[in-house]
Amino acid sequence: MVTFREFLQTKNIDESQIDSIYNKAHIAVELARTFDQMADKRNLLNNISVIANLASGAYGVYNSGENKKIIQPQLQQSLIYYGKVTPQNLNNIPRATIKQYYPQIQDDQIRNTDTIHVNIRRILNELLNDEDRIIEIAATILHESTHAYERENYGKTSEAGPLKTEAAFKVWMQGPGKQTLQGLMANNRNLFQTQNSS
Ligand SMILES: [Zn+2]
Repeated sequence: MVTFREFLQTKNIDESQIDSIYNKAHIAVELARTFDQMADKRNLLNNISVIANLASGAYGVYNSGENKKIIQPQLQQSLIYYGKVTPQNLNNIPRATIKQYYPQIQDDQIRNTDTIHVNIRRILNELLNDEDRIIEIAATILHESTHAYERENYGKTSEAGPLKTEAAFKVWMQGPGKQTLQGLMANNRNLFQTQNSS
């Protein structure tokens, strides 16, 4: 039996859709996560539960209409009881708005489980080198995650913040990120060889 607090601490992201299209997509997710934790430090990816594929159009999409959240049951009941939210609009209300109603709210009482989309095939078509593809997928994940982070924490989002995150990521990739990517790719090769030889 997992307690609510323990449940909130599991940070698994469902990336199965993009993994099934590109067998190195998981490296991009790890790269984005490392940048997020080591350099950016806003925990952008903590808001994300699903990285889905985007079949056409832009490199990535974040649509707040797909937002979902998990709220501590007691808190959810009182929010609904006092008429601040309805079970219908609960998922779409930014964390920032709930905090206005309940300033004493703790971060571990709400978990955002938002979805972002990445156009994996467009990136694979436009870039031929695996390292370039992985970097572009990671940059797109960070861009869309910044949209989700801003919407949840400030109630709104624009292009400025996500572009800034992408730019900082590209700078990081010139230094520590470069080594991180090489390490992740080496691990991936070892794993692949182990699987083949067994
Ligand atoms: Zn954007």
